[in-house]
Amino acid sequence: LETRVVEAINGVRVPQLGFGVYKITKEEEFKTAISEAIRIGYRHFDTARIYGNEKALGREIQNSRIPREQFFITSKVWNTDHGYKATKKAFEQTAHKLNVDYLDMYLIHFASPNYIETWKAMEELYLEGKIKVIGVANFEIQHLEELMKHAKIPPMINQIETHPEFPQNDLHDYLQEHQILHEAWGPLGQGNKALLQHPELKKIAEHHHKTVAQVILRWHLERGVIIIPKSANPKRMNENSQIFDFELTGDEMEKIGQLNTGKRYSINPTGYIINP
Ligand code: NAD
Repeated sequence: LETRVVEAINGVRVPQLGFGVYKITKEEEFKTAISEAIRIGYRHFDTARIYGNEKALGREIQNSRIPREQFFITSKVWNTDHGYKATKKAFEQTAHKLNVDYLDMYLIHFASPNYIETWKAMEELYLEGKIKVIGVANFEIQHLEELMKHAKIPPMINQIETHPEFPQNDLHDYLQEHQILHEAWGPLGQGNKALLQHPELKKIAEHHHKTVAQVILRWHLERGVIIIPKSANPKRMNENSQIFDFELTGDEMEKIGQLNTGKRYSINPTGYIINP
């Protein structure tokens, strides 16, 4: 699998294409999906304590017999684990479940109260070499500003809902200005039909002999955004990885930029809840 890397501010190389494992819940389905993803060549996996599949992911990574260092593994601190002590404990539990002695990336899942204390624990874990890249998810500008007021080490990445209907232009510019990587969750708009069958995207896809999903993922790449599309379907996993052999024109990038409707799935940056 071809990939590209982007560098975090500390020089750590983050594969720009990863694989999200949220909502692959059934044990057998998970096993098949992850082993297939590894076979296709995915090495960057995005999980979280709340997904309940850290253990299963760790097992598949071990079963692959591919050295740990070749993987890039992300997990996240859940809302109920905020605070200095609780975060240290949550990290140990996550590392134990994944059966690893370090995480490539560890993120605060939501800007729940107390994220300043949580960050202190993450900074220490980072300085101990137990986390290679520390960051946040679902943070808005106000949360980032507040965090940076107190942080010794600024966040290196922010994982936020991003897709053509919700491109996060202002936050995207802010992140760039502050040398914080932008990672997209829901990069395909969570598979919603209106987006995946949008006539404008279809036109662009036909022109490149690609699918709409591939065009959307390519749009992210060209914005410098890290993507972690999720699929339990091997054909789609493969499709989602074939995005390095074409380029969108400036005109096409602009047209995709015009699909911004402000339609988002996440409601509350400090909590949780995504539209069903
Ligand atoms: P996504 O945009 O990746 O969409 C996934 C859905 O799109 C799939 O279920 C499938 O129905 C469809 N799909 C996938 N590939 C396709 C293709 N080639 N053609 C047509 N349809 C296709 O949405 P997501 O799963 O919500 O986000 C990806 C990952 O982001 C998650 O698995 C998770 O790891 C992470 N995430 C993080 C947060 C957060 O709060 N930090 C929230 C949601 C998701």
